[in-house]
Amino acid sequence: MDLLDEDDDFEGMSLSARAMMGARGGEPYLEGLNPAQRAAVEALDGPVLMLAGAGTGKTKALTCRIAHLIRTGRARPNEILAVTFTNKAAREMKQRVGSLLGGAIEGMPWLGTFHSVCVKLLRRHAELVGLKSNFTILDTDDQIRLLKQVIIAANMDEKRWPARQLAGVIDGWKNRALTPDRVRGTETAAFNNRGSELYAAYQERLRTLNAVDFGDLLLHMVTIFQAHPDVLQQYQRWFRYILVDEYQDTNVAQYLWLRLLAQTHKNICCVGDDDQSIYGWRGAEVGNILRFEKDFPGAEVIRLEQNYRSTEHILAAASRVIAENSDRLGKTLWTEAKGGEKVRLIGHWDGEEEARWIGEEIEALQRGTRGLHPFGLNDQAILVRASHQMRAFEDRFLTIGLPYRVIGGPRFYERLEIRDAMAYFRLAVSPDDDLAFERIVNTPRRGLGDKAIQVIQRRARESDLSLVMGAKAVVAEGLIGGKGLGQLRALTEMLGRWHAEVLDGADHIRLAETILEESGYTEMWLNDETPEAPGRLENLKELVKALEQFENLQGFLEHVALIMDNDSEEAEEKVTIMTLHAAKGLEFPAVFLPGWEDGLFPSQRAMDETGQKGLEEERRLAYVGITRAEELCTISFAGNRRVYGQWQSQLPSRFIDELPAKHVDVLTQPGLYGGGYGAAARTGFDSSAIEARATRADVYNSPGWKRLQERGTSAGARPRGGQIIDAEIPAFEIGARVFHKKFGYGEVMDAEGDTLVVEFDKAGSKHVKAGFIVPADQAG
Ligand code: ATP
Ligand code: MG
Repeated sequence: MDLLDEDDDFEGMSLSARAMMGARGGEPYLEGLNPAQRAAVEALDGPVLMLAGAGTGKTKALTCRIAHLIRTGRARPNEILAVTFTNKAAREMKQRVGSLLGGAIEGMPWLGTFHSVCVKLLRRHAELVGLKSNFTILDTDDQIRLLKQVIIAANMDEKRWPARQLAGVIDGWKNRALTPDRVRGTETAAFNNRGSELYAAYQERLRTLNAVDFGDLLLHMVTIFQAHPDVLQQYQRWFRYILVDEYQDTNVAQYLWLRLLAQTHKNICCVGDDDQSIYGWRGAEVGNILRFEKDFPGAEVIRLEQNYRSTEHILAAASRVIAENSDRLGKTLWTEAKGGEKVRLIGHWDGEEEARWIGEEIEALQRGTRGLHPFGLNDQAILVRASHQMRAFEDRFLTIGLPYRVIGGPRFYERLEIRDAMAYFRLAVSPDDDLAFERIVNTPRRGLGDKAIQVIQRRARESDLSLVMGAKAVVAEGLIGGKGLGQLRALTEMLGRWHAEVLDGADHIRLAETILEESGYTEMWLNDETPEAPGRLENLKELVKALEQFENLQGFLEHVALIMDNDSEEAEEKVTIMTLHAAKGLEFPAVFLPGWEDGLFPSQRAMDETGQKGLEEERRLAYVGITRAEELCTISFAGNRRVYGQWQSQLPSRFIDELPAKHVDVLTQPGLYGGGYGAAARTGFDSSAIEARATRADVYNSPGWKRLQERGTSAGARPRGGQIIDAEIPAFEIGARVFHKKFGYGEVMDAEGDTLVVEFDKAGSKHVKAGFIVPADQAG
């Protein structure tokens, strides 16, 4: 069985790519590199480790290396495995390689995130772990719901032993590539001594559902590689060159996966910075980077010291803060960018005022009224420690009409009402989607309580039916009584009707509207009197609007599953709001770092859970934050903050004490809530004024704050997609002229999986499935 030869991803590449190969000579991309970078790019064979501080051009060198591999004919684009951590980074890398080679580069199917590459691999080999290739990827919500069932089935009290905790335990094992049978020793004591048993039961349930969670993507691939040497060997041979960015944040499973794949050619190039390891809480092992030379003897280790991103003040501030960490390799960084603005520090009364000030400041910078050149909105970013901080900015910016985009954190498609609506859409497309059924069967309330649902589940299991079919049987056989029966009948009838409409190819936008109306879902929110309800109704409208870009519901659902972060490129200039974690690897001319207060940043939870280790990880996060800034870095803190519904007096972050005075401008008026920083900030705190203010502010009870409060619980939520139905690679090149039956002629602009973005001459930009279009010259 040679799977590799049959597959598009492994077949030959386009003529243009072939023509590029073997071309030699003045490679312009080599010219801008410094000697160390050039060495990293040109040391093509054997293991290479690039270990260097922020902004030293690691990612740039990695990208040039890919271009160089292709240009020198060392590897075809599809023989290169290149992994990064975010979709955004992967997309940028692809574009950069293209522009380095002077044209769009197609056929790099193995450049992506760990997750996206593993999804593709697992679809090919799903049967080796008992799955079908069209498996579903669960998101956190589904995962928790499933775990809850597993806990209850094991006769444990879900209140004492919450599903979220079990999810954390299982994720931890998966991050370390431990299958249930490999959990040993003291670890078996986890979760009331039943962790590994429940883990096994959960995996079994996933298999029955033909589903995986995110941790499984890597775990299953490692399992397959370990148990099937023939499969592993094919890929070991195929991937001639392996490149990894942000290597300091790989976990054990990712590390094992890479090490297995690199064994044949040993052409692995890893790039990272121990000072930017910020995912320890999610199982990242900074030790992976330190172990590299042992794993790959004879590795060439390249250090870069010149920072090209930031001015000297910014770099000095970042270097000073990170120097407080004891557990680090230590590096020297320098920059030619002398002068520039000092790091700015300002204190505020409360979070609201902080948001107001930042909003005004952004507009001032945009107009260029700060004695500086104008900074466009795209050039400015607000980087927060916790996603609940975002709400204050979102509210403020909505009020003043300042365009912004939110990246990472809780996003549109993760909102409750959107997820509910999507569950209805999922059922209309595939009635076998049990998890979607469970989500909506009693939303809105239909008098179908836990008992009725148990009856449906039992009936479905009895005859090995999906829940929808089980529900039909319950109705036909009258297994439940009361109001519920009639409601369940109505629901199954509606589901049947909607599915038939999908099959008939009915207009999907109208269908979506029908579904939301007939199901009573819209009405549920219309009757809801909580302050969030109007916003939720707005979001539902927005959802239907989003459908317009797609040709059917299925295409839309896939698209949502694939955008793991809400980072689509948009034309309008917008300020970016994102978490510090999501900002890794990025850069912006002007960066705002709000909420530098002890307990918020460094986060109390991180310190409580892992003590000194947690504090050092928080400090690395501070280092990541400051080093995102190219020209202007503004740090702020507030004297009061409403945390989980309570007003609290805040103290400036200890990281503020660590900033070097020489490189900092204090903007706060002296004597006013922290007029200064360092020791001065603490003693200068006018706490009586703050207290008076806090009491008054306590009365303040706006919906914005309520939402902020609600958001607080979702801090640290992982960005995850929903369902991925298929992930084949389209055979269309970017720029190809194509024809679509409904939309006519157009040009392929982008591809993600087998979904293409096509700019149609008449119909505008649409997301379409590759299967629905043909090359333009074959139309008609
Ligand atoms: P991080 O650690 O934050 O991921 P990095 O080491 O990956 O940073 P890059 O993002 O590759 O750094 O580069 C930082 C900036 O410096 C980019 O704008 C890049 O274009 C620029 N740069 C890198 N190397 C050079 C160079 N030799 N000459 C000019 N500019 C450079
Ligand atoms: Mg980088």
